Amino acid sequence: MRCEVCGREAKLIRAEIEGAELLVCSKCASLGKPLYKPEGKSKVFVRRDYFKIEEPFVLIENYGEVIRKAREKKGLTREELAKKLFEKESVLQRIEANELEPSDALVLKLEKVLGITLREQ
Ligand SMILES: [Zn+2]
Repeated sequence: MRCEVCGREAKLIRAEIEGAELLVCSKCASLGKPLYKPEGKSKVFVRRDYFKIEEPFVLIENYGEVIRKAREKKGLTREELAKKLFEKESVLQRIEANELEPSDALVLKLEKVLGITLREQ
């Protein structure tokens, strides 16, 4: 990673410099105000950083059915899909039965593996 101000290769920290949020080296960070990890007050920010989902989302109502149909269309058994997702088959079974809501990370994996959308726009 390179500092966004001086371009030096270094361990970077997040800092606010002249109103902009940048990833900079410790030297450049001293020019501005270092920003530390968000402390729960901004969930949207955390999601964007770690799950690459830009906005909080709502699962579609019939997510279980959509997942099951997409899986069957791909000719995958529940066991095979569970393996691809690194999940237990029992978890997938409950998700397909609309009994269990998949985690954010799992929603993303399901969408990618099955080529579906599980989030309401
Ligand atoms: Zn720098």
